[in-house]
Amino acid sequence: MIIRLNDVYNNMLRFHNIAFGPIHSRRLGSSLGINLLPENGKLCNFDCVYCECGWNKDGTGDRSMPGVEDVAVSLENKLRECADREVHIDSITFSGHGEPTLNPHFPEIIDRTLELRDRFYPHAKVSVLSNATTVTDGRIFNALRKVDNPIMKLDASTDGGVAVVNRPSGHYDIGRIISGLAGFDGDFVLQTMFFRSPSFDTSAQANLCGWMDIVRRLKPREIMVYTLDRETPEKDLVKFPVEEMERLVRPLCEEGFLVQIRG
Ligand code: SF4
Repeated sequence: MIIRLNDVYNNMLRFHNIAFGPIHSRRLGSSLGINLLPENGKLCNFDCVYCECGWNKDGTGDRSMPGVEDVAVSLENKLRECADREVHIDSITFSGHGEPTLNPHFPEIIDRTLELRDRFYPHAKVSVLSNATTVTDGRIFNALRKVDNPIMKLDASTDGGVAVVNRPSGHYDIGRIISGLAGFDGDFVLQTMFFRSPSFDTSAQANLCGWMDIVRRLKPREIMVYTLDRETPEKDLVKFPVEEMERLVRPLCEEGFLVQIRG
C-alpha cells in the first residue's frame, strides 16, 4: 500500500528508525533518539498549535508501534555502532512522532533501555520528553521515576489555556496532572513553551502568575523554557526573544529555581 502524506506533514516527520541520531539537541547535547510511535505517522493525545509533527488530522492514521524487542534490537545496534565509532552521547532520549508513554510497552522498554545504557554508555542520561498526561497512570509514573530526566510539559496554567495551546483529545484536568507531577517530589524537569498567538499569550498576567504558582508548588529541579524553533501547523504564532523570557522568569531565578532558557 502506498501512503501519500500531505507535503507539509511529510516534511515534519523526521524519524525513520526506532533509534536515530545522535543529533544535536538544544537542550540535551548529543542526543540519541528513540521513537516509540508509528514510523509513518504522529500519535499523540495532544494536538499542540506549535507541534513540529503537524496536526493530528493530517496524519496517516497509522497506529502501529514497536514492541519491546523491536526497540531493544534497534537500540542495541545503534549503541554498538556508536561505541565502535567512539561517538559521544550525552542522552538517550525518548521523543519522536508524538507522546512516547502512549506505547503500551513503555515501562518494559524503559527497563531494557536502562540495561543497554549501562552496558554501552553508562555515563549517558536517559531522558523522556512527555506531555505529562499519563503521569497519573501508576505503571507509567513508576517507569518515569527510573529515568534520569523525566521532562514534563506544562504550557499553560489552566484547563482553558491547555485547551487553546495543547488541544487535548478527551478529558483533561490540570489539577490531576499537577497532583501527579507532585509525586516526583521535585525530581523532574518542567518544560514550558513560551509564545504568543491571537488567542494565547504565555506572558499574560493571569497565565504567567498561575504558571509560577504551579512551579512554586511542584519545585522541579530544573525548568526548561523555550520558544518556537521550527515551522508550526498554526500560523500567526510569535516567538519570544530570549531577553524577554529572561525577564519573565527572573522572579523564579531570584527564588533559587534553576531555569534553562532556549531561544
Ligand atoms: S505533545 Fe508534543 S507530540 Fe504531542 S502534539 Fe504537543 S508537541 Fe506534538
